[in-house]
Amino acid sequence: VGWWDNVGLAPKDPLLSVTEAFIADANPNNINLGVGAFRDDEGKPLVLQCVRDAEARIAGAEYLESISRQGTLKLVEESVKLAYGENSDVVKEGSFAGVQAISGTGACRLFAEFQRRFQPESRIYLPVPTWSNHHNIWRDAQVPQRTFQYYNLASKGLHFSALMDDVKNAPNHSFFLLHPCAHNPTGIDPTEEQWREISYLFKVKNHFPFFDMAYQGFASGDLEKDAQAIRIFLDDGHLIGCAQSFSKTMGLYGQRVGCLSVLCVDKNQATAVKSQLQQIARAMYGNPPAHGALLVSTILGDPGLKSLWVKEAKVMSDRIMKMRAALRDNLERLGSAFNWEHITNQVGMFCYSGLNPEQIDRLGNEFHIYMPNDGRISMAGVTTGNVDYLANAIHEVTK
Ligand code: PLP
Repeated sequence: VGWWDNVGLAPKDPLLSVTEAFIADANPNNINLGVGAFRDDEGKPLVLQCVRDAEARIAGAEYLESISRQGTLKLVEESVKLAYGENSDVVKEGSFAGVQAISGTGACRLFAEFQRRFQPESRIYLPVPTWSNHHNIWRDAQVPQRTFQYYNLASKGLHFSALMDDVKNAPNHSFFLLHPCAHNPTGIDPTEEQWREISYLFKVKNHFPFFDMAYQGFASGDLEKDAQAIRIFLDDGHLIGCAQSFSKTMGLYGQRVGCLSVLCVDKNQATAVKSQLQQIARAMYGNPPAHGALLVSTILGDPGLKSLWVKEAKVMSDRIMKMRAALRDNLERLGSAFNWEHITNQVGMFCYSGLNPEQIDRLGNEFHIYMPNDGRISMAGVTTGNVDYLANAIHEVTK
């Protein structure tokens, strides 16, 4: 018997099949609505000008070991300012354990590992639905999973009362994963008032909030506003965990730049927690890569580059909002009998369309339009050039 005869094919990522179907279809009208990355109005990937400028500034420097260490420290310092606020006590007092992570995925994985090691009896509560990789990440870290209700199929909005019930009924002292803004895949975020209620209930229940923030700036186009949920929890005195990613917000997917921070009771505890996080990372992948971290820390650390980034992030989020409005408008103009308000109510890169698998099949077979079969439309794939065609196709399959 050979060593690997027992190895079967791993289940395929559903998004991969979407891209494969798109690529295999040569029709000039074809549209890929599976893409999880920002595209400009021509459907092309975007390299931000702030990134190009930072690249020119650091050319060559990342190969110096001492500078890459500084890059890491600076990245963490600037990331926590984005999440918790420049003038927050956490940042001023340094009562957090912060480490550079392999983007958002790596930050979640590192935290899951830390959770299992130091709270071995704990579970993680994930929203239904959530980014599918959350399930894989906590599974591989061997943390048992539970779910809490989030999406309301009937209203295509938040199922707030069900969410609150699940938070209430979870055993005290549970870990919950929350998307602070631009929830993936639904595009539905709690309102400010709802966040306050959630935070209050977490306090009563003594739950741990772990925020996975992959889209700060994408929901509203305003970095501070998109951090509102985290700030509310912070004001209520929660010790938070937070994963941050710069993949989408700076278009640095391939660079794997992220940050994991865990708030602690004081600086001593923070030092201990940080040392453990570093030890876990060391055995998993040694050190995080330097180049992307240098880019991000250069941008965030320079007022000129940072304000350029803020402007460019706003341009990206505005384009997405414009496409939401255009898609809804077109469907309404075509006389669709359905309510499409959720297209503009939802925020961020994704629109949870509510299309069913048969309709999605028809979109692929008859109109060359591809999306995952949960009906999640990546708004980044919608452009001025294809939005009419898309609206028409959706109208045809929902008649
Ligand atoms: N978390 C959420 C909610 C996401 O949607 C994504 C990407 O799709 C990630 C984390 C991880 O992305 P990355 O590892 O590129 O930062």
